[in-house]
Amino acid sequence: MPSTVALLAIALMSCVMSAAVLGSLLRAQVRGVSRWCAAYGIFSVGIALILAGQRLPPWLGLAFESGLFLVGSFAILQGAREFFGKRRGTAAEYAAVIGVYLALLYFICIKPNLDASVAVSSGYFAYVRMTLGWTVWRYRPAHRPKYSYYFLAIAACVGGLLHVARSIVYGVGLAHQTAFLDPSPLNIAFLGMGILSFPFMSIGMVMLAHDRLAERMERLATIDELTGALVRRAFMERAEAAIAASEASGAPLALALMDLDNFKAVNDRHGHAAGDCALAHFASTVSQALRPGDLFGRLGGEEFAVLFPATREAQAQHLTNGLRAAIAQRPCDQTPYTFSAGVDEFRRGDRLARVLARADAALYTAKALGRDCVVMASSHGESDERIEQPT
Ligand code: GH3
Ligand code: MG
Ligand code: MG
Repeated sequence: MPSTVALLAIALMSCVMSAAVLGSLLRAQVRGVSRWCAAYGIFSVGIALILAGQRLPPWLGLAFESGLFLVGSFAILQGAREFFGKRRGTAAEYAAVIGVYLALLYFICIKPNLDASVAVSSGYFAYVRMTLGWTVWRYRPAHRPKYSYYFLAIAACVGGLLHVARSIVYGVGLAHQTAFLDPSPLNIAFLGMGILSFPFMSIGMVMLAHDRLAERMERLATIDELTGALVRRAFMERAEAAIAASEASGAPLALALMDLDNFKAVNDRHGHAAGDCALAHFASTVSQALRPGDLFGRLGGEEFAVLFPATREAQAQHLTNGLRAAIAQRPCDQTPYTFSAGVDEFRRGDRLARVLARADAALYTAKALGRDCVVMASSHGESDERIEQPT
């Protein structure tokens, strides 16, 4: 069996496996994966047709298979752009795909020139792969582990460089191809390396899809779905880290515990769905009003907390009153509500639970004083000074 045929048989198996693995991820509905899967399906059909020796006349077979490889390659680039939420392709690129195909038809059917058809198709594959590599590199998310993005970007660029070399070698006549499956050492080297880039790229794509799934899971475990605030566990974890940082730097750190007023009555009067809207309204208003670096979490039900780094208790009270003012200025039309808060400042050696308990006691006092106000834990018992009235 000629070595080129053996190589193609290996390529066929690897493309079928890639399509199957990418297909197993279809249900996860990660953007771009369906195109990647379709691309590998198209490559499999194209390679299978070459191997089957086609019943079609050789020129017609080549013209058909070339079309499949052009479309499959472009689908990979489209999938990557879809994955990153970008436009799938430009008008110039769609025109280029058609132009390249017409050029191939010309060099295959009208004025047969194998070297020219190899140079043109490799030039196109080089563009697609280099652009794929650049896209993955350019849009890799800053907050995610980089490894899988680098892997795919490098795999695509190495494949692209290989096609650049192949295009130049046959384009300028440094070597000549006598037949499509020419078993010359150079053709085998190009074919072998080109074929290797298929599984490398599909492994990269699977890694990207898995990273997107991991990101989804992490988000579900960290962010409260209704309010977009940190869930209790995530808030506590980050608060502990902020305490350690403040202990190390000596910078002050304050905490506000906030609880919506008479929320049971709000639910009873307007319904649970309207209560949910009020919670979402509260969280979005607070998130917009907070400073970068402030930490906002939902501790449970209608109880929330904000951690104010580099902030003293009095300033935290002022900032929390600013949140009350923001809600009063843009109230929830459907379900008006207010909230009360207790604020406290970390002291050296304080544990989070202790500060939360002091803030909770201050919150309790705020409720007892008639709600819709902010009480400082340090001024506990001094009822004249402890409440800052609404501004
Ligand atoms: P207070 O001013 O003393 O805090 O009174 P309250 O009625 O807010 O306090 P209470 O703890 O008795 O009631 C809290 C209510 O919050 C009861 C519960 O139905 C409601 N609640 C908790 N979580 C949610 C939620 O996710 N959605 C809605 N709509 N209501 C919730
Ligand atoms: Mg409440
Ligand atoms: Mg409550």
